[in-house]
Amino acid sequence: MIDIANDSINRIKAEVINCKLCTLCTNRRNAVPGEGNSKAGIMFIGEAPGKNEDEKGRPFVGLAGKILDETLDKVGIVRSRIFVTNIVKCRPPGNRVPTEDERRVCKNYLEREISIVSPKIICILGRTAFESLLGGGSILGNRGKFIAKDGRLFFLTIHPAAIIYNNKLRYALEKDMQTLVMECRRLNIPI
Ligand code: URA
Ligand code: SF4
Repeated sequence: MIDIANDSINRIKAEVINCKLCTLCTNRRNAVPGEGNSKAGIMFIGEAPGKNEDEKGRPFVGLAGKILDETLDKVGIVRSRIFVTNIVKCRPPGNRVPTEDERRVCKNYLEREISIVSPKIICILGRTAFESLLGGGSILGNRGKFIAKDGRLFFLTIHPAAIIYNNKLRYALEKDMQTLVMECRRLNIPI
């Protein structure tokens, strides 16, 4: 049993790095725990590590990460002040979408990350995180919205990787991030 009061981001990291709870452990080079400010006001949640993340053991360090960083920069969010993580912590082969089983098994780590960081806003990046956390559907139909659930405030936007395939979405992502920044200012959330 996890002693909740003494749980920490470092402890989760250590567990994730050695985790063999699902079959995604068999193909990984490195597991990718969440990282950033453990007292962040905003937490960003993506889908799963890709190739670069698997190589480096860090979230959002490939092309999607570059787009995320550029967008954060543009709206004035400092990456070291936020917390960045994923629904599952190991790369699915060929970057396929993680299965329901994989997400369910891995969820204990994400739930602990959320409870330790206790962010004021959880920014959901894309469909997989939307589905896993809120049971949601279309991101394009819901992006830019805030949703309150279980005493937490969620914000929905598109996954930065979507921009790799459709550059027009870059402006949608930037616009959403501006909405997020405005709400952070209104609520006095440090960014
Ligand atoms: N895509 C994700 O969803 N997460 C990462 O860490 C990298 C790419
Ligand atoms: Fe463990 Fe999650 Fe990696 Fe599966 S994806 S092996 S549950 S850390």
